[in-house]
Amino acid sequence: MNSVPAQLIVGQRDELVVHATQLVRVALCPQQGQNNCFCTGCRWINNRQHPALVWLCPESDYTLEDIEIIFEKTRFSLDDGAQFFFVLEKANQLTPATANRLLKTLEEPPAGYHFLLLTTNAEAVIATIRSRCVLTQLAAAQADDGRHSLLAYFLNVHQQEDPFAFEQELKKQALDDAQSAALFELLANAVAAQYKDAVLAADAALIVQCTVRQELIERNMRRLPQSGSSDLFWKQLWLRWHL
Ligand SMILES: [Zn+2]
Repeated sequence: MNSVPAQLIVGQRDELVVHATQLVRVALCPQQGQNNCFCTGCRWINNRQHPALVWLCPESDYTLEDIEIIFEKTRFSLDDGAQFFFVLEKANQLTPATANRLLKTLEEPPAGYHFLLLTTNAEAVIATIRSRCVLTQLAAAQADDGRHSLLAYFLNVHQQEDPFAFEQELKKQALDDAQSAALFELLANAVAAQYKDAVLAADAALIVQCTVRQELIERNMRRLPQSGSSDLFWKQLWLRWHL
């Protein structure tokens, strides 16, 4: 069986850590890490002490010594069906030398070995590494091209409910119709993710809030702005959102 190819995951640092930890838990925990599972395996993963996990996070650039453990571990083949994870934070700090040393193993890891490379900036990752990975962009990173500041007004990120501040931000962003549609899609995805989290956490209040918001999303999906009505669209959505 071929291993899943290496993944390059792009996002903000905190969400990267959460996301990678969850991927490892899904694979290694008997309960797939669900419902805040607190089994021994999950605790080991959270503390990065799981025997089937090597989590690297160098202070500055990666050295050959830092990555040597990868070759020590992959020298042995795993039991049938067993899985092993290497998480490399700050993948953009892989130097040409360490990248070269890694390429072959990244490309064709022995069965059961997985690589999760994390970075806040995919462009800064050496191209030879990037081209060998499947790229995953986390939601917040997708929005992180300046427009995320608007989403914060909808997702309680900073509890921003000041209509004046929102209007100022909206003016500053000067969204066109296409940008509005893209941002709206991000918002829809974010609310869907929030809803899923709320259900997992059995948070009744949040479930109700997310349900209301999902209805708003659905209704507005059919009324996406056309011919320059973006500002009005967002203002109306904001008002209904915070009713
Ligand atoms: Zn568990």
